[in-house]
Amino acid sequence: MSSKFENAEEWGDNTSLVHSGYNPRDYFGFVNPPVVHASTVLYPDANTLETRAQKYTYGTRGTPTTDALCAAIDELEGSAGTILVPSGLAAVTVPFLAFLRAGDHVLVVDSVYYPTRHFCDTMLKKLGIETEYYHPSIGADIASLCRPNTRLVHLEAPGSNTFEMQDVRATAEAAKAHGAIVTMDNTWATPLYFKPLDFGVDISIHAATKYPSGHSDILMGTVSANDRCWAELKEATVTLGICGAPDDSYQILRGLRTMGLRLERHQQSALEIAQWLESRDDVAKVLHPALPSFEGHEIWKRDFKGASGVFSFILKSPDASSYKLRSHAFLDALKLFGLGYSWGGYESLAVPVNLGDRKLSKPTVEGPVIRLQIGLEDAVDLKRDLEAGFAAAAEAK
Ligand SMILES: *Cc1c(COP(=O)(O)O)cnc(C)c1O
Repeated sequence: MSSKFENAEEWGDNTSLVHSGYNPRDYFGFVNPPVVHASTVLYPDANTLETRAQKYTYGTRGTPTTDALCAAIDELEGSAGTILVPSGLAAVTVPFLAFLRAGDHVLVVDSVYYPTRHFCDTMLKKLGIETEYYHPSIGADIASLCRPNTRLVHLEAPGSNTFEMQDVRATAEAAKAHGAIVTMDNTWATPLYFKPLDFGVDISIHAATKYPSGHSDILMGTVSANDRCWAELKEATVTLGICGAPDDSYQILRGLRTMGLRLERHQQSALEIAQWLESRDDVAKVLHPALPSFEGHEIWKRDFKGASGVFSFILKSPDASSYKLRSHAFLDALKLFGLGYSWGGYESLAVPVNLGDRKLSKPTVEGPVIRLQIGLEDAVDLKRDLEAGFAAAAEAK
């Protein structure tokens, strides 16, 4: 696909989001790419077919629609290539399967997205691959955990639900010095607010289900690799038979066009609400990397360009026996905030957080932890909704 402009590398992120991935001149001038539904691709003659000497060869190996999305993601991530997979979780598991083999040792951050841990503890274990969890604050000390068979080090920052920051550059450099491949789940920040490949990560993982989709209606994952890892990653997806669906790819590309604007609003409202929560007596603590009171704030400020709209807070409660009662009373009183998993859509959501899976990085909490996704509603209305939650929690006995 031809590029529309010559100076694309000078663009700001929003310009890139609007113009990247597809040149309207490639398809009669229509602004958006066609949605190509395909298994078979026809060849003009037997020789071309036998040598597969044409751009598109089979539906699983890419179409103009999936190419447009992959090219747009590559521009954002600064990657050599991107694969599309059917969910954000598959965006973790597919590169793990691509690079790991029996006898390997994997280092995974303890504050990882829980389904990633589940995959490591069940499927990887069954395949003869050992997973060891490390503390998110480890930094260059990751070297002390690396063994001759440590093939992969996985990062996720901020951590799931409790938002621990990681020194990505220090961790990635030390891991690579030991010959490991470094993967990072970058779903929270999106490549607009953090570009893992610029910090020494080999493979950037994104649940496109979240902000790129933006409307709670698409499941997709993207995996973007640097030069060193791209060929092996691409080969693995072809081998596994995994590919992005045409309609979903189209919708994610559509979502990307407005992602920068949406994120600005998510960021602004989330920070406003986080500060407001922090000032309240009924809140013990707010876990949001952009708050100066947050432990990982300095790292966030140094390395990240922004904060998205998901964070947690601890609802102050007198004793552990009242945690569940209070948290449920709070959640059940919410009307604008829906109770449901995932995030990144236009609507606000709240969920109770379970830290039962943590081994090394279990924070001490003075009450139940509640995670909020701040949507695109007016912040004043969201605060009013949360007020009702606090009132109900105070009443709960
Ligand atoms: C949601 C999420 C995923 C998984 O995405 P799905 O599309 O729901 O499978 C992976 N990693 C992180 C950090 C997430 O928040």
